[in-house]
Amino acid sequence: NKLAAMPARVFKSSERSLNDKEVITNAGFELKARLLANENPFGPSAAAKKAMQETLDKSYQYPFMLLPQLYGKIAAYEGVKSQNILMDAGSTPLLLAAAMYFTKGGKTVITGDPSYDDLPSRAEALEGKWVKVPLTADYKLDLDAMEAKVDSNTGLVYVCNPNNPTATIVDTEKLKAFCERVSKKTTVFVDEAYIDYLPDPQASTMISQVKAGNNVIVARTFSKLYGFAGLRLGYIITQPETVKIFGKYTTQSWSITATTLAAALAAYREEAFLQDTLKKTNASKEYLYSVLKKEGYDYIPSSANFVMFPLKMDGQKFVGEMMKRGVGIRNWKLNGKDWCRVSIGRMDEMEAFADAFKQLS
Ligand code: PMP
Repeated sequence: NKLAAMPARVFKSSERSLNDKEVITNAGFELKARLLANENPFGPSAAAKKAMQETLDKSYQYPFMLLPQLYGKIAAYEGVKSQNILMDAGSTPLLLAAAMYFTKGGKTVITGDPSYDDLPSRAEALEGKWVKVPLTADYKLDLDAMEAKVDSNTGLVYVCNPNNPTATIVDTEKLKAFCERVSKKTTVFVDEAYIDYLPDPQASTMISQVKAGNNVIVARTFSKLYGFAGLRLGYIITQPETVKIFGKYTTQSWSITATTLAAALAAYREEAFLQDTLKKTNASKEYLYSVLKKEGYDYIPSSANFVMFPLKMDGQKFVGEMMKRGVGIRNWKLNGKDWCRVSIGRMDEMEAFADAFKQLS
């Protein structure tokens, strides 16, 4: 059934405000604007779709050949070895593996608050403990305060950069220095799910820290800029010995389908397509900024494909009213106030958002 196919994680967050049934009933594929899961409606590319089609005849075969090809492509682009990489069906299984291993026996995971809660909430559901560190006044991860929380019981520090849900980034040099120091005491997990949305991801990535030999794990996903959320593909880049540890807690890439691998081989660093997606995303984002400004709302300038802004009404009520108008978005509590996070979609979706929003503001 159609509802059973809905992505459960969207509705699982500890900050969820509508009851599950209400969200699932309303968040189906019939929404005019599906702006609640930071998906990218501009992808996957035509080349990716063609590659998937061509793979179907051979889909009785295990993808023995495709996996090393993709590992090799990523390794060559990032200047690392294939032994530094582990892929899985999305970055979610890798976040779970990190939660399982690094917080074993009651160790802590330190995160920003709010930040992406998948890894720490899974850690908490297992044996781990979650240490939440409030953001700075300008809604960025407070790296100094996070570092101050590191002690002998820390299992890992989770740095989401750009941060979900605030779409803010931390200063690159500051984060590098943080990684250098903190990785001597514990593991630093840098989730770069949205880094492809920065003007120069190569200048901001902490893969440089992995190359420097530090105890840093960088997580990436094809779900965002590549538009592969439904195809499921993500990976980590880290030290080979850490890859081996993750191997014990994952299927070692064997849960990735041949069609997804073929699509990724076709789409990886397909620069013209990626630039086009960025251009469309930025145009929709500028339009959203203008709507918010016109209606007298502030927002946090975004370094990703979503925008967070403070509401003037109850967050739960706002989400429900928008849902009734066919627009799916999410609400958050931040500094005790109600906020909304809107994913950046196609222009028609942003216009549907604007129409509904004007009726409520
Ligand atoms: N990390 C962050 C910061 C995310 O926002 C998401 C998806 N919302 C993920 C990881 C997981 O994405 P996926 O499993 O599709 O790679």
